Amino acid sequence: MTQRLVRVCVIGAGLAGLCCALAAASRGMRVQLLDEAAEPRALAAHIEVVPSMLRDLVALGIGDDCVRAGFPYRGIDVIDRYGRHLHELPTERLAGPRFPAALGIRHDELHRLLERAALHRGVALRRAARAQAVHQHAGVARVDIDGGEAVEADFVVLAVGAGSELPLTLFPHARPASELPQSWWYALLPRPVDLDRPLIAYGDAGHRAVLVPVRHDQAGLLLTEPGVAPEGIAPAEHLRRALATFAPRLRALKPRLDEHTPITLRPARSALLQMPWYRGAVLAVGDCAHALPPHFGQAAAQAVEDARVLADLLDGATGCAELFDAFERRRAERVRRVYDLTTTAARWDLQPDSSADLNRLMEGLAQTVAQPA
Ligand SMILES: Cc1cc2nc3c(=O)[nH]c(=O)nc-3n(C[C@H](O)[C@H](O)[C@H](O)COP(=O)(O)OP(=O)(O)OC[C@H]3O[C@@H](n4cnc5c(N)ncnc54)[C@H](O)[C@@H]3O)c2cc1C
Repeated sequence: MTQRLVRVCVIGAGLAGLCCALAAASRGMRVQLLDEAAEPRALAAHIEVVPSMLRDLVALGIGDDCVRAGFPYRGIDVIDRYGRHLHELPTERLAGPRFPAALGIRHDELHRLLERAALHRGVALRRAARAQAVHQHAGVARVDIDGGEAVEADFVVLAVGAGSELPLTLFPHARPASELPQSWWYALLPRPVDLDRPLIAYGDAGHRAVLVPVRHDQAGLLLTEPGVAPEGIAPAEHLRRALATFAPRLRALKPRLDEHTPITLRPARSALLQMPWYRGAVLAVGDCAHALPPHFGQAAAQAVEDARVLADLLDGATGCAELFDAFERRRAERVRRVYDLTTTAARWDLQPDSSADLNRLMEGLAQTVAQPA
């Protein structure tokens, strides 16, 4: 690595930013990580750490922490609205013999352990630090923070997610992510004792539920339905009513949902930043480069994959131009393919199509992401 790439400023301490900060600090770089939020986001939700994502978390050195904090599993059951078992989706063991195939984990737990690992490797994290603008001059990037302060760096990793306006100011071809007309509800519930791997269940048209064990005593419920969330009804009551159209195993969850149940409603966004994903000394990663429809756990997996590829390339990096060019060569085609597959799944959700073959789509996706990026 030349003198030029010593200081990095990562903007955004979500999954993508935390993993990139961890990757750069592990390669000996001086890392400043900024986030506008004063506190880590404690979302009542789970994340499915799919096989390719676990492989990348292991490569970033935090596989054991994830396994300890989550609920390892192998295989996924799929049932119809009457409870009939339709099939089992395989989960390939990609992270090596010492690790499980996949795991369920709480959203806040994963962020907490990533933050802890990043701090441990020397990342300087500043919260309540909103990046306002990035200027570039003579090979140095300067990030202006609200309040008049600034951070200088040899390069900037922009990991501000899908909702920020900052990428629009830096990338002339960037467009705001479009919101899918679909509601994604998450809730954390006591784990049913017989749930030892995820269960995907179909309800009325366009309704799907996924129940994922996240701890020995807790499970994450994800309920997807068409349209925007109704107003004037308490979230727990809405979820209880929605579960009435599902199989008995899902209906049995209704008494576990009350006004104390932690529930998150998440907008499903979709956007793919036109290439190049870099400008001068700024590289866009995670949801601000590719906000994927949340199907098949690939939104999070592709964010972690960005960090994994960056980690590989930092080892031999001689300057921003080569680094970012090599990054794009390894990421562009793959992310485009995953984006196409997840967008097709989202379209089928919204406009049911009798010729749709979700299993084939999932097989194609599994084959794509099984190869390391
Ligand atoms: C409730 C929930 C559940 C999810 N579950 C799954 C799942 O099961 N599977 C899956 O694949 N994906 C899931 N996702 C999506 C997945 O978490 C994201 O795709 C992934 O985290 C990548 O996000 P990111 O780091 O790019 O952006 P984000 O997570 O949005 O993080 C962006 C960060 O940037 C900060 N920021 C924004 N603007 C600025 C600024 N100007 N200055 C400083 N900081 C700024 C924000 O505060 C935030 O912390 C879920 C998301 C949510 C919200």
